[in-house]
Amino acid sequence: MSAWFETGEDGTEHLAGVSAKLSPKATLVASRRADGQFQANLLSARTTTVLHRVAGRIDTTLADAIIAGGGTRQHADQFAGLFPEDPALAKGGRKGERFDAVIEVVADERGNFLETGDLVFAAFNGKEASGSWYRFTPDDTGLPEFFSRSGIAGDEFLLRDPVRGAEMSSGFGNRMHPITGEMLLHAGIDFRAPTGTPIRAAGSGLVTDMRYGEGYGWFVRIRHERGYETVYAHMSGFAENLTPGRTVMRGDVIGYVGSTGSSTGAHLHYEVLSNGFYVNPQTLALPTGRDLTGNKPVLAAFEAQRDAIDAFRNNAGGSQLFAATTNTARVANAPAP
Ligand SMILES: [Zn+2]
Repeated sequence: MSAWFETGEDGTEHLAGVSAKLSPKATLVASRRADGQFQANLLSARTTTVLHRVAGRIDTTLADAIIAGGGTRQHADQFAGLFPEDPALAKGGRKGERFDAVIEVVADERGNFLETGDLVFAAFNGKEASGSWYRFTPDDTGLPEFFSRSGIAGDEFLLRDPVRGAEMSSGFGNRMHPITGEMLLHAGIDFRAPTGTPIRAAGSGLVTDMRYGEGYGWFVRIRHERGYETVYAHMSGFAENLTPGRTVMRGDVIGYVGSTGSSTGAHLHYEVLSNGFYVNPQTLALPTGRDLTGNKPVLAAFEAQRDAIDAFRNNAGGSQLFAATTNTARVANAPAP
């Protein structure tokens, strides 16, 4: 955060502007206009997205291997989540099992590394699980998901809308506090709905917490498989018979929309955590069970992207040791992250 000042006609110094770096790619600049009002602008660095392959055999854990190859723990967690039939993979996998991952890397105009992006491909050949998954964002929904080679997503894991049909009133991410001007993370998304509207469990899992919290008001926390948790806040009440320690199924009603805690109107504040980290529920690439084969144009777009990823993998060389196979290549017309 930095600030600058200017001397006015009356000789006094006053604040002329402030800037804050929000991420390696974005800087927020607020400066005083001639009329004395402040105007905020978000400046984005020109970036390019390149693909980066990390492939090899597990020696200690999958996460160690992926991190050694330039990925992150989140990539490893997401990779393991794509093969739920092998619960051991989420705990590290078995020595000798083969993996192949492609991640996006964001670089500036000069090709300098800025940050890692999404996992876009995951293949695994292990004792309990095997297969290949391609990340793809269908035009008609705009929601990223992982699809099999033939264009079919895995079974639905978390519902996109725990309040059916509700309007999203606030998204995930940094926002400025209206009073203090401080940048704060809005760690979930808000769905506006009338008090009393049923709230559904986004996925099957165990109710680990349900009580009154100072900010959350009445809330429910559910633990799911693969390290995911969901939180539902500002409820007006809980579903009858719901207790901590109880198992719920995806779609079960767990409570009702309200405005308890720090809330200015009836809405659901919904959070998703992946291994303890807040993640954006809207852009999570979790399976929905969707089959692209019934929609020719969308299927064709998926196949073109799948073939481009496969071509990159073939050019990136064999997959013996990750150190030998961490190649990068520039992506033409990379989709926006
Ligand atoms: Zn909220």
